[in-house]
Amino acid sequence: MTSDTSDPTIRSHASELKTRRHRTSTKPGADIFSATALHTTVHFGTWQIYSTDSALTDGQHIVLVKGSVEYGRAVPCRVASSCITSLALDSAECDCREQMIEAMSTIHKVGKGVLIYLDQEGRGHGLTTKIRALANKNIGMDTFAAVEALGVPADIRVYDDVPKILNDLRVASISLLANNPDKASALRDVGIDVIEVRPISVVPNVHARLHQEAKRLRGHTV
Ligand SMILES: [Zn+2]
Repeated sequence: MTSDTSDPTIRSHASELKTRRHRTSTKPGADIFSATALHTTVHFGTWQIYSTDSALTDGQHIVLVKGSVEYGRAVPCRVASSCITSLALDSAECDCREQMIEAMSTIHKVGKGVLIYLDQEGRGHGLTTKIRALANKNIGMDTFAAVEALGVPADIRVYDDVPKILNDLRVASISLLANNPDKASALRDVGIDVIEVRPISVVPNVHARLHQEAKRLRGHTV
């Protein structure tokens, strides 16, 4: 059996399902999210966790929400891209884990905020390019040159799904937790109202200092 969305019967059923989801939904996030639950952390309390519907977003993103953010202005928000080597595998090559912990800590202290963890590993290139770039770093290249030596741009991350996520959560505007000024510009370019940018202060491990220095040279406020 094929699924043919040009079939009016199927289209009508899909439309009815969507209407029903709207009608029965008591909280934001009925459209773009495929699942939600409470997520209790060791250090930063309990959050609402969502996964996005990969049929509607580019990959399956994770969104953590703390407190009431609906119709909120200047809601503290961290937009991070996947870094499994740091967050899951204890990598000393970058400071993603430290930044994530600091962002979660800040939102936990404020009692309100959104953390968006985008499904785009290694500045958007994927795991294979990331590990090839790591091989270049092993021989002394900085974090940006290591990628560029592979013949691809240093950064191809996209933020097109962020407005969909924030719209579904009905967040009006954000206070962006970030050290990268380009990220604020990229988010504004896709229509996000970034009221301010709040730097994240982290103490990097000894290995990540070179990574931070390379970022500083590229204009990051690390
Ligand atoms: Zn990282």
